[in-house]
Amino acid sequence: MGNSRSVAIDQIANHKVESNQNYLEHAGADIYGQYVFGEEAQRQYLAKPIFKNLRRTIDGLQPFDPAIVDAVAHAVKEWGMAHGATHYTHWFVPMTGSTAEKHDSFLSPSGDGKTIAEFSGKNLLQGEPDASSFPSGGIRATFEARGYTAWDVTSPIFLQVEPNGATLTIPTAYVSYTGEALDHKIPLLRSQEALGKQALRILRWFGNASSSRVFTTIGPEQEYFLIDRRLAEQRPDLLLTGRTLFGAPSPKGQELEDQYFGSIRERILSYMMDMDRELWRMGVPVKTRHNEVAPAQFEMAPVFEAGSVGSDHNMVVMATMRRLAQKHGLLLLLHEKPFAGINGSGKHNNWSMATDDGENLLDPGDDPHANAQFLTFLLGVVRGVNVHADLLRAGIADAGNDHRLGANEAPPAIMSIFLGSQLEDVVSQLEQAGSASASKHGARLDLGADSLPALPADATDRNRTSPFAFTGNKFEFRAVGSSAPIYWPQTILNTAVADSLAQLADELEKLRIGDFDGLTKILSGIAKAHKQVLFEGNGYSEEWHAEAARRGLPNNKTTVDALPALATEKAKQLFARFGVLSERELAARLDINWERYVKVQNIEANTALDVARTLILPAAVRYLGQLSKAAGLSKAVRTLSGEVASLTDELGEAIEALAHAQHEAHGAGDVVAEATAIVGSVIPAQNRLRVVVDTLETIVADDLWPMPKYRELLFQY
Ligand code: ADP
Ligand code: MG
Repeated sequence: MGNSRSVAIDQIANHKVESNQNYLEHAGADIYGQYVFGEEAQRQYLAKPIFKNLRRTIDGLQPFDPAIVDAVAHAVKEWGMAHGATHYTHWFVPMTGSTAEKHDSFLSPSGDGKTIAEFSGKNLLQGEPDASSFPSGGIRATFEARGYTAWDVTSPIFLQVEPNGATLTIPTAYVSYTGEALDHKIPLLRSQEALGKQALRILRWFGNASSSRVFTTIGPEQEYFLIDRRLAEQRPDLLLTGRTLFGAPSPKGQELEDQYFGSIRERILSYMMDMDRELWRMGVPVKTRHNEVAPAQFEMAPVFEAGSVGSDHNMVVMATMRRLAQKHGLLLLLHEKPFAGINGSGKHNNWSMATDDGENLLDPGDDPHANAQFLTFLLGVVRGVNVHADLLRAGIADAGNDHRLGANEAPPAIMSIFLGSQLEDVVSQLEQAGSASASKHGARLDLGADSLPALPADATDRNRTSPFAFTGNKFEFRAVGSSAPIYWPQTILNTAVADSLAQLADELEKLRIGDFDGLTKILSGIAKAHKQVLFEGNGYSEEWHAEAARRGLPNNKTTVDALPALATEKAKQLFARFGVLSERELAARLDINWERYVKVQNIEANTALDVARTLILPAAVRYLGQLSKAAGLSKAVRTLSGEVASLTDELGEAIEALAHAQHEAHGAGDVVAEATAIVGSVIPAQNRLRVVVDTLETIVADDLWPMPKYRELLFQY
């Protein structure tokens, strides 16, 4: 008779993947967008003039017209009910980092003992969740709990379909009574608008009269782990913190490099197919699936979409992945570092800027004129990232990502840009071209002439070590954590670039249109002043850390080092100037970040203590008992017994030390002081505890060990 671990493993060995016999009926185009009130459904359910009116708003060409709201609400309700919806919900992304929803049924008593289905324009436009329990960072006191959700017309309404029914889901923004942003969506929308406005000024200088709007595009690649639920259930650390707080390395890890792009196990592929189908139905353009580097690690990527829609869709992706994992008997781990010693997970945010008439502004054209415009935007991004590197770092800072950044598998905490050798060369030519002393060489690069080489889209090589890499026709912000909602990092990126483009536009507007010499000088100046952020080498190397320090680039290793950037005058002015966040809104966000950091670390420390005291220590004691009974039998047993006894002592001490450190940190003062004490003493104490536990794991009898081991979690699914 085995312990619960071996029972789970027996069951896994006999696990049969359910087959979905009718998959041919749910293949591709016929199901895509089936759960979305998209263009097709709108055309079908709305009168033509109303349909056209609504489309203009969705396309960003006009504000929403209140005159059509009741008609739209009626159509939405009819469509939803035709697809089985009984309830509707305003879906939003409060600053918890998860989505929130409260469901209301369409049914309304009609007074004669019956009910009718109702859904008014007001129900569609606005909701008022009793929202006193969402974090507001002090913006909204509990006694004045009003918060409003407001329909985000640009993000498609969709259905969440469960085995028992469907819920009509309306993406919304969440604001306080005073009109302040309480969510992740509003600042993102504001930042997109700011960026679009500045980008358009530059396009006009280049003679573009046709585009009426510039928006950002986003394609987030999502990494994740899947492990068997029956094993996961026996790990309180995984269930409560999303990562293993203990665990000796598996004898086999990722060293054979046989997982990356390897053939996908039947059970996982079955899950992925289910996920793809579900997401296609919800109109999420999922494209790619593959095995990632670490055992039990995988990745999915969608086709890119407009920034805010793509961000909402990433939330839908994470929620759907979690729900389906449950259905397949798996546990989804989105944590940045679920397992020590093997790769963690990130979210590569592929990002660009596009016009409403379909031009990607980071696509190097093949004629010199297009090149000049491309280089202008490229250098605009370079300057934005260099000037606001500290903010970009702060925007990806949290307890989870601290384990991953700089861990020799993920980009370091130093924000730098990889352009690829060809572009880097172009930028350095540009730098020389504009300087007065190099006017001779200047002839080498005249943006108005065709001496500038054509820049094919695949001109860039690959550099996996850069946090911010140019990859052909987009940038890839790779330092974002796998569990993070992508709204906030994008908000910061958009605002940083808006700031840089605003300066560029100010300078350009002083030049005669077509003055490419003048343009060259401006770009050359930017190249000179900001080339320090460009780095082509190995971002994991020691040399880069030293070099970055010489260049004066910020290297904020932990969340505690990174967050203060959001409290600077520079940050306040930047966000206020572009109307993205008021000083109060920014301070609230920062507050929430600190709070969250401290809470997450306390949950981890509490879980570690609980597991160590009630699972590990008893196992060690039990083993010690067995050994001492057998001590007379052999010298080896006596040696082992001594080892286990001293490790058990160390365990007791490490537990007390962690409890003490946590207690001291708690009394350190305000939340920033507590966070600082956590980095200084709680995390080291927790790491010491882990070393003792992991050492015990390697010598205590396997049948006495109370939790599934890495070798089981990572390979038995
Ligand atoms: P790679 O494998 O080089 O990372 P892919 O072509 O697979 O690149 O693209 C990765 C992600 O980048 C995909 O989600 C893709 O849709 C997205 N992407 C491609 N072009 C753009 C763009 N212009 N803006 C934003 N994302 C983009
Ligand atoms: Mg990529």
